[in-house]
Amino acid sequence: MIRLSLLTRGEPLSQARCSIPTSSIRRTFTPSLLSNNIRSFSTAWTLRNALTEAAAPTRPFKVAVIGSGPGGFYAAHRILKHVPQSSIDMFEALPVPHGLVRFGVAPDHPEVKNVMHTFDEVAENPNFTFIGNTSVGTYVTPGSKKADLEISDLRPHYDAILLAYGAHEDRLLGVPNEQTLKGVMAARSFVGFYNGLPCEQDLEVDLSKAETAVVIGQGNVALDVARILLTPLEELKKTDLTERMIKILEKSRVKHVHVVGRRGPLEVAFTAKELREMLQLPGTTFHMDQELLASEMERAGKTLDRPRKRLMGLLEKGIKESKPDQPKSWSLQFLRSPLGFSGDSDNQLKAIELGINRLEGDNSNRKAVATGEKEILACDLAFRSIGYKSVGIQGIPFDERKGIVPNMDGKVVDAEQNIVPGFYASGWLKRGPIGVIATTMADAYQTADTIILDWNSGQPMLNNDSSSMKNSSKPVLELLKSKGHKTVSYKDWKKIEQKEFELGAKVGKPREKFLTIEEMLRVVD
Ligand code: FAD
Ligand code: NAP
Repeated sequence: MIRLSLLTRGEPLSQARCSIPTSSIRRTFTPSLLSNNIRSFSTAWTLRNALTEAAAPTRPFKVAVIGSGPGGFYAAHRILKHVPQSSIDMFEALPVPHGLVRFGVAPDHPEVKNVMHTFDEVAENPNFTFIGNTSVGTYVTPGSKKADLEISDLRPHYDAILLAYGAHEDRLLGVPNEQTLKGVMAARSFVGFYNGLPCEQDLEVDLSKAETAVVIGQGNVALDVARILLTPLEELKKTDLTERMIKILEKSRVKHVHVVGRRGPLEVAFTAKELREMLQLPGTTFHMDQELLASEMERAGKTLDRPRKRLMGLLEKGIKESKPDQPKSWSLQFLRSPLGFSGDSDNQLKAIELGINRLEGDNSNRKAVATGEKEILACDLAFRSIGYKSVGIQGIPFDERKGIVPNMDGKVVDAEQNIVPGFYASGWLKRGPIGVIATTMADAYQTADTIILDWNSGQPMLNNDSSSMKNSSKPVLELLKSKGHKTVSYKDWKKIEQKEFELGAKVGKPREKFLTIEEMLRVVD
């Protein structure tokens, strides 16, 4: 039984408790037992025990996963491991899998991309089918292209549908000219561009006239962008950065990058490893307000937790050890919010107006409050790096305010908190666009546990019309074929990847990515 296997694999009790689907419990037990937080482990144990006493169904368990990033793959991995009769069809809008592991993680962080090997192992399971080049669910945003399949096409063929399609838009600042001036762009688009994401290849990226760039936001994406702009090209040429971007960087005149945050040093969202990389950039001076750092550290005193203390220590060291007058520089600017972008007669960005803030509130949640003072920061390029954003798809509940599919432990609920049977969410779509791959993995496992426990305890799901494990994806593949739609299998993807390895080897790189969907499909035609 799944309960026993979950609890005998050496998982700490706290984790076991965490994986209890409160959503299932809500349906099965009296409300008095059911707070969102289950208070004692013994209660949790009793509920879990009761939940899993029902014999797990013996017929095949068919699951559709929408999205092939870590949120989809890790959940698939867990379900296949714990439900022997499960079969998983994973739908991916692009011909190539792995989401932000391929199109987000920086080219100079190859070790992070090793998770792709784990995903390859999942795909080797005979009960797993990858259906690439196939989008599911038309986005509700105006002007969205119609998806290849709607949720209603999948419903009759699966017991459960897991939504793991991530966050593919970005948040806006809501200030004048952020979407109209040349030289102002979303960090998300720039990252997609240099990582070879097909839909971003039309982005106008010209670094040949730009000397000063500003990145708005102080998260890890902001530091990725700053690092790509300042790293010596010889280093980047050894990575899987696209040749197209390398050509652009060859002409780059960018010398100074300012990373601007609306709050203070204690509130930065980037992490120590990424800061250390910035501080070690050769030929690059680091600037920041030393007095502000000292006063903030004094203010925080002993309340600083260990990771934050380490981060502040790195900043102090960075200021102390920074070599002045290097050919390039980068800075951290604090307490500044963009009020608007201004350009020249050619509509080219020339400056950002920044409002100066002070911080209010207690240490754990300080807010930036405008002082009314302003300053102008001259620049030629600006990257908005204030977070990604998920969007809803037709027929599925979506919480616009939080930017997530509303859920309880991964189980989709509607606006009134009623469970939507058979629908689940994981990854950034489930909890918002925050967290590294390890966080996404933990969260995908939690959703998978919810699904497994629902299945084993006979909770209502969708109506799977097939009792056969063989060719479980046949009805959907036939539907796609009848529409003349070309799908890509995992075997096809491996062919594309092999070709990318070959192209990369010719120029001394781990791989050279195809930049268009047509080029990818041509390999498997
Ligand atoms: P995604 O990885 O975005 O996967 C979603 C998938 O769904 C995509 O493949 C997408 O094409 C597909 N999809 C979208 N819509 C549809 C549809 N309608 N139908 C079918 N498929 C669809 N974490 C680290 O640990 N280390 C790092 O170095 C690191 N670097 C990062 C760099 C950047 C720029 C970003 C943005 C994130 C980085 N992260 C890093 C975080 C990590 O990438 C995320 O935690 C993780 O990728 C989120 O997984 P996900 O499956 O929710 O979403
Ligand atoms: P993030 O970590 O949430 O950082 C967003 C930044 O934007 C914060 O500094 C935030 O400041 C700021 N911001 C938000 N709204 C703003 C506004 N209206 N005006 C001004 N500033 C605003 O997001 P991210 O950088 O996109 O990263 C997403 C996730 O991917 C993170 O979990 C990150 O760790 C992960 N990631 C990891 C790596 C890596 O491991 N190397 C690399 C890239 C990304 P406030 O705090 O004031 O809101």
